[in-house]
Amino acid sequence: MNRCCPLANVHIVLSHTTHPGNIGATARAMKTMGLSTLCLVNPKSFPNNEANVRASNARDILEQASVVSSLEEALHDTVLAIAMTARTRDLSNRILDARQAAKVLLEHASNAPVALVFGRESSGLTTAEISKCQLTVHIPANPDYSSLNLASAVQIMAYELRMALTETMLIAPQQSAYQLANFHEVELFYHHLEQAMIESGFLDPRQPKRLMQRLRRMFARTQLEKEEVNILRGILSALEKHRSA
Ligand code: SAH
Repeated sequence: MNRCCPLANVHIVLSHTTHPGNIGATARAMKTMGLSTLCLVNPKSFPNNEANVRASNARDILEQASVVSSLEEALHDTVLAIAMTARTRDLSNRILDARQAAKVLLEHASNAPVALVFGRESSGLTTAEISKCQLTVHIPANPDYSSLNLASAVQIMAYELRMALTETMLIAPQQSAYQLANFHEVELFYHHLEQAMIESGFLDPRQPKRLMQRLRRMFARTQLEKEEVNILRGILSALEKHRSA
């Protein structure tokens, strides 16, 4: 975690990238705007010479990039994750445009890591990946063809972050009195809640429908704090104890 420059706390996460050239172009897009933390979830080919060539003078970002095998690993310590999508789906989180999202990201990035998650070139992010994020961003584009090249989408977000930083530097930084729960803590809570619902008979694991997805969507809107997660888990534990007594 970096407390001095919020941009260092903005992690760019690329999920299952197919074309290594896009990874290189992403590194270049990031460095031109002052971003530096790149995380690759199961890239098809990395390290790769085409990525190096497309990165040009941003190879240092590729050298420092982390490669992980799941989105959960990539988001582990983040307090806010934003899904980038070329499409607007049915049951999605609150949808922001690039400019609104950059402001929200910077508000949190002065205290803790945040992530922008980008999908595969062929099919974007899966519904499961989107539901791991609290917010969704759609870059407004031609409704008949709104699918930008991956690195172009990264470039637009990186630019908006830079512009938002310039604006916020003119305003005194705000320190929140409460600490937000990170991804791992919230995931543990969801797991606890799911188990409690199954054990109580409220949730039938053979027919879960979209219950967990709906609950995730609801809690994503609230931005849970560490203490609130502790309270919710405490309530679940007390109810569990009460049932088995
Ligand atoms: N064909 C895919 C889009 C792939 S583009 C689809 O239909 O979903 C690769 C990635 O770039 C997307 O997963 C998304 O993260 C990002 N992206 C492309 N266009 C975007 C847009 N208009 N708004 C937000 N993200 C976009």
